[in-house]
Amino acid sequence: MDPQANSSIEDSVKEACGIFGVFDHENAVELAYYGLYALQHRGQESAGIACLMDGRIKSYLGMGLVGEVFRDEFFAKFKSRHAIGHTRYSTAGSSNIRNAQPITIDYAGGQISVAHNGNVTNGWRLRRELEEQGSIFQTTSDSEVVLHLLARPEIRSQPDPIAAALRRLQGAFCFIFLTPEGIIAARDENGFRPLVLARLGPATLVASETCAFDMLGAEYLGEVAPGEIVRIDARGITRSRYAESKRVSHCIFEHVYFARPDSRVFNQNVHLVRKAFGRQLALEAPAQADLVVPVPDSGNSAAQGYSEQSGIPLEQGFIRNHYVGRTFIQPSQGQRDIGVKIKLNAVRDVVKGRRVVVIDDSIIRGTTSKGRVRRLRDAGAKEIHLRISCPPTRHPCFYGIDFPDPKELIANQMGSVEAICRFLEIDSLAYLSVEGMLKAMDKPGNFCAACFTGDYPVEYDAEFDKNAMEGARARR
Ligand code: SF4
Repeated sequence: MDPQANSSIEDSVKEACGIFGVFDHENAVELAYYGLYALQHRGQESAGIACLMDGRIKSYLGMGLVGEVFRDEFFAKFKSRHAIGHTRYSTAGSSNIRNAQPITIDYAGGQISVAHNGNVTNGWRLRRELEEQGSIFQTTSDSEVVLHLLARPEIRSQPDPIAAALRRLQGAFCFIFLTPEGIIAARDENGFRPLVLARLGPATLVASETCAFDMLGAEYLGEVAPGEIVRIDARGITRSRYAESKRVSHCIFEHVYFARPDSRVFNQNVHLVRKAFGRQLALEAPAQADLVVPVPDSGNSAAQGYSEQSGIPLEQGFIRNHYVGRTFIQPSQGQRDIGVKIKLNAVRDVVKGRRVVVIDDSIIRGTTSKGRVRRLRDAGAKEIHLRISCPPTRHPCFYGIDFPDPKELIANQMGSVEAICRFLEIDSLAYLSVEGMLKAMDKPGNFCAACFTGDYPVEYDAEFDKNAMEGARARR
């Protein structure tokens, strides 16, 4: 099958969500807004902020980017010292306002709001159980399950209901809860997704990535540990474990692609890790070339590493148009080249007549890569050697990252590197090895690389979940 036939212009994978929390700051709502702005790359479909006003949680949710959802009227009405926020891309559950977060409920235990990043792998099984016992779900997202668990009498009667509810969940989850008493941050025992803490004067902040703290001038305190609950309230910060972490499995794709290069993720700076990927790639897959050209922006750091290691000069052979918004109309099949060109154009005077090593962070369906290298050819590049700073992506992710169907992944469709090379019409292609990628990590044994290797750290019943999700949608 020709992958071009069913391609979208952007064949990138999508992150699940970004979450942010503030306790005890006079401008908590504004801080949450700025925090979400810094985390916008983690989800662009909807955004929401919940805050405490006169002892009650009030929330404001909308579809779109953070800057589109929160306008002057929101800031005029919402004032609080405590707030949590969420920016969403849907991996489990459809994209509509009903699935926007934070989700807020009133129940016998009081009022509580939750913002979630990740994917609860037994979420649909739990949901079915809870529905059979009378729970009525408002959303089609897996995040709501934790609230229904909290409302159960057998969980509410536990000394630590949050811990008891979390112990029922499997898979990938970082939660920030807001209650009338304070905020509570919790992370799954594998530590799939990042969750970090900071201080800003008297305030305590929680976020998916440290880039949100840098923007606010906050002091980074460290990670919420896998299996940990951090309670932040008038008594201070209380840390406890709800589960022992048996197998830490941080998502390596956060470093490959998702996280911002200025963030510190799993205790390593993303830019420096990507540079190390690039250096290793130069050792594993050298090329005879005149220039190293990054695919901006996520290929920049790896290209720098490749250039330093190989001694081949780095040049900006592509320029990205940063002003292509979501309203950009997807061109029809015949105009597809325009779509690629409008986002990324080759610099003719840089690449003409030169042998170019192009560094990209990943190839997913391959259609976008094909368009990009064609830009270079059209601009007169003599040879194109594509180097990918991660291994071939072959398997789905069940822990909060949305890859296309495995059948659509070019590494599965084409099989061999030679076949992909022919499809892309380039002179050579090489990927970073799994071992080479993990070499860049301080603790290589603490990473999930299942989308490359198929070795899943937590079980997942994809067929059950697909049926349950379709069933839930059909009942609406
Ligand atoms: S399968 Fe891939 S994307 Fe998913 S958590 Fe593991 S490394 Fe990350």
